[in-house]
Amino acid sequence: MSYFSDLGLAEPILRALGAKGYSDPTPIQRQAIPALLEGRDLLGIAQTGTGKTAAFALPSLHRLAADPQPRKGASCRMLVLSPTRELAAQIAENMRGYAKYLNLSVQCIFGGVPVGKQARALVPGCDVLVATPGRLLDLIEQRALTLRHVEIFVLDEADQMMDLGFIVPLKRVANLLPKERQSLFFSATMPKAIAELGKQFIHNPVRVEVTPQATTAERVEQFAVHLNQAEKQALLTLSLRKGLQSGEIERALVFTRTKHGADRVVRHLAAAGVTAAAIHGNKSQSQRTAALGAFRKGDCPVLVATDIAARGIDVSGVSHVFNFEMPNVPEQYVHRIGRTARAGATGVSISFVAPDEKPYLRDIERLTQVKLACLPLPDGFLQEAARLPAPTRKPGGDEAHDRRDNRRGGERRGPRPEGERRPARPEGERHPARQDGKQRTPRVEGEGQPQQRRFKRRAGGPGAFRGKVKRAS
Ligand code: AMP
Repeated sequence: MSYFSDLGLAEPILRALGAKGYSDPTPIQRQAIPALLEGRDLLGIAQTGTGKTAAFALPSLHRLAADPQPRKGASCRMLVLSPTRELAAQIAENMRGYAKYLNLSVQCIFGGVPVGKQARALVPGCDVLVATPGRLLDLIEQRALTLRHVEIFVLDEADQMMDLGFIVPLKRVANLLPKERQSLFFSATMPKAIAELGKQFIHNPVRVEVTPQATTAERVEQFAVHLNQAEKQALLTLSLRKGLQSGEIERALVFTRTKHGADRVVRHLAAAGVTAAAIHGNKSQSQRTAALGAFRKGDCPVLVATDIAARGIDVSGVSHVFNFEMPNVPEQYVHRIGRTARAGATGVSISFVAPDEKPYLRDIERLTQVKLACLPLPDGFLQEAARLPAPTRKPGGDEAHDRRDNRRGGERRGPRPEGERRPARPEGERHPARQDGKQRTPRVEGEGQPQQRRFKRRAGGPGAFRGKVKRAS
């Protein structure tokens, strides 16, 4: 057994860990901290929930504190890149906790909120900056930030960065970093493409792997229910209602493949008296923060999320994960059920498998080498399902959205899952609305519109309305 004090971390850091009640390092911390204290680069294969944040935060804070530097304006000494806003906020919060007794400042920047306040906060410079890639590049373009003084660079959740299409922004960031630096590269999975990306950032790294690649969390009891798509909502509502009433379910995370699907599930649950909130890319930052806060505090015991919004979120006490729709990428399943059974707890995952999702289940079982135990539909399911109230219809809501989606040439049924990209148009073929041959402004950021959009429709500018309003007769 080793303790944090054996690893050679500075006293103020040990004090902060003591305040949090941590005494023993987790396996990734035990492996990574000594190498990082020596200044080595690191390649970490680890999911969230393993103590990965502290594994990179503690030695980095130690090194920054051991070599105090006068703060330089509009710059940072350590840069942590994270794919989502929620994860960035969570990392920053953790780092502030670990740096509580050090004279080091931590800032966090992400899209979806006004840029001005973040730019102003960067003026005096900071020691640690946690950022999402799009907003980081926006601020660099606005000259509110330079990466010239970065000593430690951390790329977190690299596989998700790639899924989200952040590869070009990442390469741009790489070009702006000083050559002399310490680099840490973390990913939950390490397919070839990610390993290739890693080579661009890290040199001669120490390799640390805590869960063998794509193995499912051992402490999660995994079940599958075979049913029709139309029966899923009723089973979810009844399972949650019963489990929450009996206290068997403490907090449940429900995964849907689409954003509209998530909203629809929430409305059905609300009609049946189950408090739930949705979190996905169409929600404003304040809505996402409020939903996550209520879930963390226990005010809202059910969070319905898409994969991208939920990835990396650390909420303790998630007792159940429901896969309302099966992920079509088997690794995603591992990430989903990793939300439960965190920090020594046990968890339950229940996957709802419609007939057309059986191939996904097969892929998952092949990858995880675990056969999911099949649960039957509960006794009296049909009668109880028939008694459930219908949700209020949202005008022009999901149904209209689904119809619109189904009209698109029939090549895809239903809305596009969040994060899935539009299929590439054949080379030489133009967008139907772009017959003029002009190219659209390239989009850098996966989490919002580019800044220039805001100025595009200036009065009198292109697209501004000049004629008289014609009254419809
Ligand atoms: P992470 O993988 O960084 O998301 O961490 C998962 C959870 O474990 C977070 O809630 C951490 O605060 C917690 N944690 C990290 N390190 C330790 C430790 N050494 N002992 C107990 N809990 C920890």
